[in-house]
Amino acid sequence: METGGNSLSSGPDGVKRKVFYFYDPEVGNYYYGQGHPMKPHRMRMTHALLAHYGLLQNMHVLKPIPARDKDLCRFHADDYVSFLRGITPETQQDQMRQLKRFNVGEDCPVFDGLYSFCQTYAGGSVGGAVKLNHGSCDIAINWAGGLHHAKKCEASGFCYVNDIVLAILELLKVHERVLYVDIDIHHGDGVEEAFYTTDRVMTVSFHKFGDYFPGTGDVRDIGHGSGKYYSLNVPLDDGIDDESYQSLFKPIMGKVMEVFRPGAVVLQCGADSLSGDRLGCFNLSIKGHAECVRYMRSFNVPLLLLGGGGYTIRNVARCWCYETGVALGTEIEDKMPQHEYYEYFGPDYTLHVAPSNMENKNSRAILDDIRAKLLENLSKLQHAPSVPFQERPPDTDLPEADEDQYNENERWDAETEMEVDEQRMPLYGRVKRELLEPEHKDVAIVREGVDMDATFKEAALSKVTKPNSASMDEKPNGSEQGNSDRPSEEHSNMIL
Ligand SMILES: [Zn+2]
Repeated sequence: METGGNSLSSGPDGVKRKVFYFYDPEVGNYYYGQGHPMKPHRMRMTHALLAHYGLLQNMHVLKPIPARDKDLCRFHADDYVSFLRGITPETQQDQMRQLKRFNVGEDCPVFDGLYSFCQTYAGGSVGGAVKLNHGSCDIAINWAGGLHHAKKCEASGFCYVNDIVLAILELLKVHERVLYVDIDIHHGDGVEEAFYTTDRVMTVSFHKFGDYFPGTGDVRDIGHGSGKYYSLNVPLDDGIDDESYQSLFKPIMGKVMEVFRPGAVVLQCGADSLSGDRLGCFNLSIKGHAECVRYMRSFNVPLLLLGGGGYTIRNVARCWCYETGVALGTEIEDKMPQHEYYEYFGPDYTLHVAPSNMENKNSRAILDDIRAKLLENLSKLQHAPSVPFQERPPDTDLPEADEDQYNENERWDAETEMEVDEQRMPLYGRVKRELLEPEHKDVAIVREGVDMDATFKEAALSKVTKPNSASMDEKPNGSEQGNSDRPSEEHSNMIL
């Protein structure tokens, strides 16, 4: 059993977990435009593989409830959300100023159904967080989510709304500490920035660093104020292979689990870190990538698995299908079953593909140095004076109950559970209401109160230092690259 030496890990790793999988059959129809590398169709391909490997029957398949304006506005600026709701390909010519202001138009194009797309992928991630908070499942999966670059009032890197930040805010209603881990090849800048000054969320990003989008994620960027040492960045170079990657991932994440002791873990599984990605330059196999899922799962902490980047879409589908199997504790066979997208997987029609023979530019000495630096930072966190955490928000912080609170909970609890027919395709029409189990009643009470409160985060994160104009300038030893690409002050004044 791989436990990484973490005392929290319990039980054999093979123990079954209850898995909820969020999928909207419409999601594959959204289209960023001709030539754009981001293809929501990859979620439909993943789903088809899951269906034909027989994995859907081993988990609860849920259609996400679309996130509403007010759900998105828990993180995003009102005017940005209004803009996303209103913009269409037909009207965008009249809104050039707004497009520029919100960074919409090029990497992040306006396309038909853009706002519904955002509502769908955010609804899946927040819905997964709600299910984990209720104790309804051990692992929630939303491969349509993981859009880690979106900022409070700006689209970035194919991302419009940051479903990860929204899901973490939801988890913080119940959990004192939430861990975010990002294995996309790009730095998880939007999530790091949102939680840069709090000790309630630790962010850990493994990414290509140096002359690469988005430019942030220097090893010396460690968080600020109360959040100092609660942001971890693992800068990597081209060609990293499974062994090199795991020589950092496991020791670092094992230590993080030991010293941070999160109540929930969010793992962004961006598949652009795989070998042969259209935009990436790493050399990970699917098994190497999935080893991160396997390892984080082994700690038996509520786990939210999200998608992210991934631009060689046949490999994205392969990867997320295999990782769904890992979540379920089943090893699926390499030979691929016949299905509607079978022709994408030729000539071998296998799940796994060999990594390339590209050069690994990450020398042993460099990797050892990075690992030592990060473990040193974590040891400072370990030896920091302990700060008492609130068990839950005190009643005085809760708003008055009103009729909306019940609607709010019904809304997130009444997801449509999809029935699956013999062809393993989803059917609709049966709505399953899930009842809270008695032992989770106390959690439900907390949620009923805080769900109402759009300002909850300020109370819940009360220990957080408010950012000020100096906060980014004061960061010690920030590299030129790290600092020059730091988001503007406007963006750092997010939620905390
Ligand atoms: Zn990426």
